[in-house]
Amino acid sequence: MKDSLTRRAFLAAGAGWSLSSLASSAAQLPNLVIIFCDDLGYGDLGCYGSRIRTPNLDRMAAEGMRFMQHISANPVCSPSRASLLTGRYPTRVGVPRVLNPKDTTGLPKDELTLAEMLKPLGYKTMCIGKWHLGHLPEFLPTNRGFDEYFGIPYSNDMKPTPLLHNTETVEEPARQETLTQRYTEHALRFLREAKDSPFFLYFAHTFPHIPLHASPRFRGRSPLGLYGDVVEEIDWSVGEVLGALKQLGLEDRTLVLFSSDNGPWYQGSPGRLRGRKGSTWEGGVRVPFLARWPGRIPKGRVSNALTSMMDIVPTFLKLAGAPPPPKPLDGIDIWPILSGQRQELEREVLLYFDNIHLQCARWGRWKLHVARYNTFAYNPAPPGGRQNFPVDPPELYDLLNDPDESYDVAPENPKIVAEIQNRIERLMAGFPEPIRKDYEETRRRGGSPYTPGALPRRTT
Ligand code: MG
Repeated sequence: MKDSLTRRAFLAAGAGWSLSSLASSAAQLPNLVIIFCDDLGYGDLGCYGSRIRTPNLDRMAAEGMRFMQHISANPVCSPSRASLLTGRYPTRVGVPRVLNPKDTTGLPKDELTLAEMLKPLGYKTMCIGKWHLGHLPEFLPTNRGFDEYFGIPYSNDMKPTPLLHNTETVEEPARQETLTQRYTEHALRFLREAKDSPFFLYFAHTFPHIPLHASPRFRGRSPLGLYGDVVEEIDWSVGEVLGALKQLGLEDRTLVLFSSDNGPWYQGSPGRLRGRKGSTWEGGVRVPFLARWPGRIPKGRVSNALTSMMDIVPTFLKLAGAPPPPKPLDGIDIWPILSGQRQELEREVLLYFDNIHLQCARWGRWKLHVARYNTFAYNPAPPGGRQNFPVDPPELYDLLNDPDESYDVAPENPKIVAEIQNRIERLMAGFPEPIRKDYEETRRRGGSPYTPGALPRRTT
């Protein structure tokens, strides 16, 4: 699709479809439920090796597909969500960093959300939980394609902490102990109300982002502390949603996805991966990803295919028969993997940005680190400030043989390094000017200290 097609033209095209054809086809369209956690680590679920008890998520994995190489497009909250809902890199859509309550911006109106893409097809849409793509009314979910919204519009450690219903504050500060319970009640109500039309439920939990809160029923129950309690309560919630779909006879018509926006922060486990939230090591960006759709997704499969959060939009648009959106997507349709037809798909390198800075690129099993901050994430900035410096020469990791990125194999694989560098150059040429400029500036910077990796390789 051409960039020149406007959002208005896209929406008008959908609205122009005859109502009778929409009504007859709408009944056949699949439903979508995305359950999205905040800062849940790759190693925090039973089915990913944790001792936190997550029987419902483990069952969801056993009844569907579990992905081992699913990459969020960013290691922090707002940009990750921007990519989930647009299918495009956050550095392309103008949300490269975390938004805070003082910000007056949000996801730009000329970027379409998945909800806006599905509305013209007759979908009922609801967003529950953490939004974090702009908290002023024009950016809130009900102005971005969702019929209804209930949640805290950004992170639960930000002040003030209002609980919104649509655009109205119904509680401030939000009583966080009962949030997961109340979110779940709204989700079940929505499912009952929307059962006769195609629907999209975006259920974005506030937790396990800190401050951690669990309801009295779950508090003190897990041997793994409050974090464990919180994840067990989320697992309960997933069980409620899956149970409701079954009770309403919707299981065979509903794709349910479960994931997290980025790696774990102060607590939580990235599993064997290196790094945490705020870092482009795998622990910051690789997250659990489960997909379940009885009869359509084979049971009990484990996929090692490289997938991205940006793939969800193109995959579901294809399933729903929606017209392609006006702007090109960075994700790809992974239905051939979900349906069990293919084990792997050809795809371009996946770029890892932190803020506007390109830091790594992933090409199949290989990951090239080309830049890095001069301090660890969330540490005080060094004299002169936190800056992105080139990793020069770049470090190459073979994630098949070295999942925790401990052994640089760039010197042994110069052709792989060159291939990934070429692909980076080609892709970066299509990014907005500030992103390209930062990339060039970082490359020119050179020569300054950075946080240890497999380094120091040089001491001067
Ligand atoms: Mg997060």
